[in-house]
Amino acid sequence: MGVRPGRRPGRRWTYDRLRQPCAELATHTVTDTAGASLTACTVHTAEAEQQITRATVTPLPHG
Ligand SMILES: [Zn+2]
Repeated sequence: MGVRPGRRPGRRWTYDRLRQPCAELATHTVTDTAGASLTACTVHTAEAEQQITRATVTPLPHG
């Protein structure tokens, strides 16, 4: 039983939770290097910043 090389760090976004409905007000847009973006609350934005290398976080304009 050979040892398989570990999985590469995923290219997928690892913050699937961010795609879950969130009760918090979206405050930022998070964009990854591939250009995918979503809006997130402050908590999820902080998570995304930690999890996504080179994520671009842009505050949403206040309404
Ligand atoms: Zn949230």
